[in-house]
Amino acid sequence: AKALGKARYELFDSTMYAQATELMQLEMDLRHAIEHQEFIIHYQPIILLETYKVIGFEALVRWQHPQQGFVSPEKFIPIAEETGLIVPIGYWVMREACRQLRAWQEQFPTNPPLTISVNISTKQFSQPDLIEQIHQILQETGVEGRSLKLEITESAIMENTESATAMLLHLQQMNVQLHLDDFGTGYSSLSYLHRFPTNALKIDRSFVMNIGVNGENLEIVQAIITLAHSLNIDVVAEGVETVEQLAQLAVYKCKYAQGYFFSKPLNSKLASTLIASGLNF
Ligand code: C2E
Ligand code: CA
Ligand code: CA
Ligand code: CA
Repeated sequence: AKALGKARYELFDSTMYAQATELMQLEMDLRHAIEHQEFIIHYQPIILLETYKVIGFEALVRWQHPQQGFVSPEKFIPIAEETGLIVPIGYWVMREACRQLRAWQEQFPTNPPLTISVNISTKQFSQPDLIEQIHQILQETGVEGRSLKLEITESAIMENTESATAMLLHLQQMNVQLHLDDFGTGYSSLSYLHRFPTNALKIDRSFVMNIGVNGENLEIVQAIITLAHSLNIDVVAEGVETVEQLAQLAVYKCKYAQGYFFSKPLNSKLASTLIASGLNF
């Protein structure tokens, strides 16, 4: 029994070791990924449900690893967050997405102009020079503040409450929009909604998932939409996959939706085709 125990321990140990090595290797590779231009951005359309028109896109980063191929953001974003690499990666995404947006706006003027939503991680949100960097990127790319939507989670704000207020007021002065990402999954305290200049709530996919099938989470989704309406802010449902989900969201007068029902995130070429064809669904 003792021998077996030891063998098991060693087996377990080597698996752990392999996992740790893989993580360390990914971390090292991540350090070179920017300079080696291994990142690209995919763009997922966001649809105004009243008209079924695309009003903008969410920028989602993709890593094309030279040996391992595509690595999911679910896997490398946490590593990037832990090592601080998310900061340069995040700025690369914002700069690249704004450049692309400006080109689209010029090619296809709409009123209001197309928007780009960019994810800001907790670590990035805690950077003292965030405002300065955003200001510079907007100037450099010629994108107006109102065309940029920052997707920030409740927890990122709550972990930086001291700097958050000043930061968010600055962004508001620049007309940059604040969208609360994964809304409903984080902190239960809603008091900050009054304190911070929030423009929209994004209902997390986990709530949207079952509403069309068995009505699960229906009350939660309804409550979030009602909350948004009463605060006079917009609401975006993410992860919409079926016509049933869409029908429920329409009943509650959810304003915007995003999800595979309309489109998966698209590479810039496919997104350009969608734009050139008139932004209709
Ligand atoms: P998120 O911000 O909640 O983004 C939505 C995720 O849901 C994306 O996954 C998107 O591809 C996926 N999605 C959209 N519609 C549907 C749908 O109908 N069904 C299903 N099953 N999934 C859908 P993705 O691109 O893998 O990104 C995962 C997460 O990684 C994002 O979650 C975000 O937290 C993070 N992430 C992605 N790009 C960036 C980035 O540039 N910066 C930072 N800080 N985080 C990023
Ligand atoms: Ca997001
Ligand atoms: Ca989200
Ligand atoms: Ca999510």
